[in-house]
Amino acid sequence: MWPGPVAAFAMKILVANLGSTSLKYRLFEFRENDHVELHRGGTERVTDYVGAIDACLRDLHETGSIRHERDLDAVAFKTILARDRSGCAFVDDELLAAMEACNRIAPAHNPPYVKGIRIFTHRMPKTPMVALFETAFYQWLPEAACRYAVPESWYALGVRRFGYHGASHKFIAERSADLLQRPDIGDRVRSLYDRPQPAPTDSGRPELRVISCHLGGSSSVTGLRNGIPIGNSFGTSPQSGLPQNNRSGDLDPFALLHAMREQSLSVDDAERLLSRESGLRALSGGDNDLRDIRQKALAGDGKAQTAIDVFVSQIRHWIGAFFFELDGIDALVFTAGIGENHPWLREQVCAGLERLGLLIDPIANHTAMATEALVSAPESRVQIRVIPTNEELVVAREARRMLQALNTANPI
Ligand code: ADP
Repeated sequence: MWPGPVAAFAMKILVANLGSTSLKYRLFEFRENDHVELHRGGTERVTDYVGAIDACLRDLHETGSIRHERDLDAVAFKTILARDRSGCAFVDDELLAAMEACNRIAPAHNPPYVKGIRIFTHRMPKTPMVALFETAFYQWLPEAACRYAVPESWYALGVRRFGYHGASHKFIAERSADLLQRPDIGDRVRSLYDRPQPAPTDSGRPELRVISCHLGGSSSVTGLRNGIPIGNSFGTSPQSGLPQNNRSGDLDPFALLHAMREQSLSVDDAERLLSRESGLRALSGGDNDLRDIRQKALAGDGKAQTAIDVFVSQIRHWIGAFFFELDGIDALVFTAGIGENHPWLREQVCAGLERLGLLIDPIANHTAMATEALVSAPESRVQIRVIPTNEELVVAREARRMLQALNTANPI
């Protein structure tokens, strides 16, 4: 809980990214209209969160990024899902309980966040903890984009499309608008959460239509009209949509019932199989990192090739859905670990789409690695771009906005 006003100008905000076996962090300092990333670090193979959080704070001291823990104005988290809550919020017991209520929908994501936030809160009880939910970016989706055709009582339970990767797709919406010379849209998205509804667009200018592909350990595709999502490939849980590293992605519900009956699976068995033993891992016969899958496919492994083919086909499926709804696009953007680092995959996703106006430039594409780049040919009607995402910056900015709003309400 936030106890009182903070310093009005320079603010240091730590963003902690808590995975089931990792803790990654970035420290930002904000001044008036500017920010710098002071430090980033992380620990893999975490078994003890208390130790990992101690090590993070020690690292910030030892690198001179902070002198005291009280130098941190807030610790912010890219949280996933909470029952009946979204947006950006100061963390309190009620919010943590609402997150815990969704543990079974996001078993790989919610429990580490709840645990990690509790440890940070215990360690730094006077420092505000801020949560930006991955669902926040989709809060204005039309009903037709979020309802499933199931009994209404299920909808009340949260059986609906939420959409995830909100911080990443929001960053892409901002940055793609800047790169396409539409600062009006970039500013609209940057200040999106300042008001209860998105700011209106300048009606005199053409619509900006972008499809953002976040492809990594988790993957999703989002269609953006004037920077605001019209939908996301994720559904109720972050296990849905595209095939994920170990998680199934979309599946016919009757196929699940059939498999459960035929193999006498309990609900827990099915949950484990769908969330840990499915996705690219299941298709490839054991690998879940696209680098390994690609190596095996190149060496002639048929299962690895199938995993790639299914992944590419599903990415194209979702791009196609949003392309149609948007009546064509101005830009297709690739981001995250796979989107930024695998040119061959971008080439396969864009293959044979010349009549839709997408023409990739093989040389520009193959030289673009984890850097911002235009990878379409000059004659391509649609720009194809690589934009490294910066989810942490989006989270830190929202935490800063929350602190500033609080300062305005309670001046020092
Ligand atoms: P997460 O979704 O867990 O944050 P990433 O966005 O890093 O993970 O995505 C993991 C995937 O991205 C892996 O399949 C891996 O193949 C790919 N990847 C990540 N970094 C690189 C890199 N530097 N070079 C090649 N592939 C990478």
